[in-house]
Amino acid sequence: MSDTIFSKIIRGEIPCHRVYEDDAVLAFLDVNPLSKGHTLVVPKEAVATLDKLSEESAAAIGRVLPKIARAVMSATGATSFNILQNNGADAHQAVFHVHFHVIPKVEGRGLGIGWEPMKADNAELKALREKIAWAAATETQKG
Ligand code: 5GP
Repeated sequence: MSDTIFSKIIRGEIPCHRVYEDDAVLAFLDVNPLSKGHTLVVPKEAVATLDKLSEESAAAIGRVLPKIARAVMSATGATSFNILQNNGADAHQAVFHVHFHVIPKVEGRGLGIGWEPMKADNAELKALREKIAWAAATETQKG
């Protein structure tokens, strides 16, 4: 994977407004925030998308995210927030180093969501359930 701007931030080569750091995770303010307090939570492991992340980094991110969400809410006064995590250019990812957005609802600003549900066909749901459950079981066996 090529070096991204987030690897440079993690190495301290580019400045950021850091709000949290431990051995595995760095969190800092987004330079182009959707709302005041918009924070990025980034594993130090440099992989492009969530499906490539090691279990160790995933666990570290999972431990930190609720803390950062609470901190962002307490600092901004927000009582609602979204977690956004984009994977792939088609899914709006611009920086190809895994990251989670913590986006509080502040002053009427925050994440806008285009949510256009389809009608679900029961036979299709059953077929998909089988395929995904089988793939999930295979992933679990891999460890
Ligand atoms: P993505 O679309 O990849 O999920 O979001 C990338 C985010 O990184 C964007 O919200 C963008 O504003 C933010 N970003 C890009 N470059 C920098 C930077 O150099 N510093 C900081 N703090 N945020 C950045």
